[in-house]
Amino acid sequence: MSSYGTLAAYERMRTRDPVDIPMIINGQEVFTGNVVELTPPHDHKNVYARIHVADGTGLVKEAVSGALAARAEWESMSSEARSGIFLRAARLLSTKYRHEVCAATMLGLSKNLFQAEIDAACETIDFWRFNAFYANEIYSHQPAAHSPGVWNRLEHRPLEGFVAAISPFNFIAIGSNLASAPAQMGNVVVLKPALETGLASSLMMRILQEAGLPPGVIQYVPVLDPRGDFTQDALHHPALGGLHFTGSTNVFAQLQRDIAAGIGGNPDTDPAPGDSTGRQPYHSFPRLVGETGGKNYLFAHESALASEEGRRDVAAQLLRGAFEFNGQKCSATSRAYVPASQWPALRRVLEEEVARIKVTGPSDPQSFVTAVINRPAFDRLASAIEGAKADPEMDLVAGGECDDRVGYFVGPTVLAVDLASLGGGASAAGHMAALERAHAKHTVRSELFGPVITVVVYDDQHWQAVARAAADASPYALTGAIFARDRRVLEELASTLRHAQGNLYLNDKSTGAVVGQQPFGGSRRSGTNDKAGHALNLQRWVSTMAIKENL
Ligand code: GLU
Repeated sequence: MSSYGTLAAYERMRTRDPVDIPMIINGQEVFTGNVVELTPPHDHKNVYARIHVADGTGLVKEAVSGALAARAEWESMSSEARSGIFLRAARLLSTKYRHEVCAATMLGLSKNLFQAEIDAACETIDFWRFNAFYANEIYSHQPAAHSPGVWNRLEHRPLEGFVAAISPFNFIAIGSNLASAPAQMGNVVVLKPALETGLASSLMMRILQEAGLPPGVIQYVPVLDPRGDFTQDALHHPALGGLHFTGSTNVFAQLQRDIAAGIGGNPDTDPAPGDSTGRQPYHSFPRLVGETGGKNYLFAHESALASEEGRRDVAAQLLRGAFEFNGQKCSATSRAYVPASQWPALRRVLEEEVARIKVTGPSDPQSFVTAVINRPAFDRLASAIEGAKADPEMDLVAGGECDDRVGYFVGPTVLAVDLASLGGGASAAGHMAALERAHAKHTVRSELFGPVITVVVYDDQHWQAVARAAADASPYALTGAIFARDRRVLEELASTLRHAQGNLYLNDKSTGAVVGQQPFGGSRRSGTNDKAGHALNLQRWVSTMAIKENL
């Protein structure tokens, strides 16, 4: 499909009067009058929309009871009928709504044309289509054995109550899947979308409605303060059956703690009527599925960099992994390990390539890096870059410029820290001590969620020990990329580094998992690893009854 249609739609959306984005409850648009103004990250003085939020309106309560009322009919619908709705939605998105949804993603998130297309169109379509077929895989899970005179079977039902979905700003597809994966399995869902996604995510709701999604099955509930009405009336609701979350590690940790506090005691001896705040215990144990942060690495072995072709390839994958959508992917590459023997040559390629990267608004077809999502993100990144520049042990290889006059532009930035200059001499112990110091640096340790990568330059002879320490250095374990052309080395690195990762890439960048091909999710503090884009995720949204019948 040509990009002209998307660019024309983008231009219309950018220049028209600001539009109102309603809540959608029981299939009805609700304009609460309590609005948040939305501005594009790359043009922060231009209000393009007002999103109506639920805060203080009592509407979250209504959304939950409406969802619970819609449950019986939705649950009793055949799985094929539910699949039909999502398959039709995928068709509508790939045809009638494609340009509009991609343009809304460019405007709201500052995704360039290519990133908007692969997110809002391709990945959302993939989620809807694959989930429709993976559902059959779940329903076909049946007992393998039947004793003589016995017939066993499994019935897979939705969870008790309703599912709350909380979406991140960075992927329209993720928000769509957080709500639609549980819905595909017969659950009703109350979705709190990230406000920045309002224009595109409300369009997704319109598409689902046009495809035949019954009113109330997915309630669209934007809120400004997530700790307010949404927490009281949705997350603390005794009928909460599950939470489908993508966002920061810190917020997911808070949600886990908060939900844990609502688990009642022994129902036989302690039928508590609720705690001092009047909170009623949950009817079940809510299932918590979360995909959170990452501090993802690229590890390059000398064999991957020995030729000019190899260096060009590693540089390209490093820069794409680090800078696509401005590094605002949980999977983004944000630390790289490069052997000292190859660093000068690779550095030249990186300098040359970063200088060619265009930092502009998303409508420029040549744009690669655009603006980061908002003021707090800009400030956080600008201060991390300034901190690194002021650190005499760190080297600014390329980029390092930030400009927030028109939009929140953070230039793609490559930093380096050389273990030799941190006192990492030839001895293994000295080298590992230097690596530990490097790992303590802010840009090497913390998730920055922006276009900043730090290269750690290591002594070639210590590659095994450095790889091991790299895997263990981070509390996160989402994605990793290993580059080696020597098969034996590749195998060894893969087995050293693989235990900690949710998604491991060999000779490829750490981003861009494809639904149906690389199910996505991480372990440790990166989430519950319930693989989005696979039947493993859909399985979390069913509660199974085993039936035995004597024949
Ligand atoms: N699935 C995306 C990828 O593989 C990242 C999703 C995220 O940022 O949460 O790049």
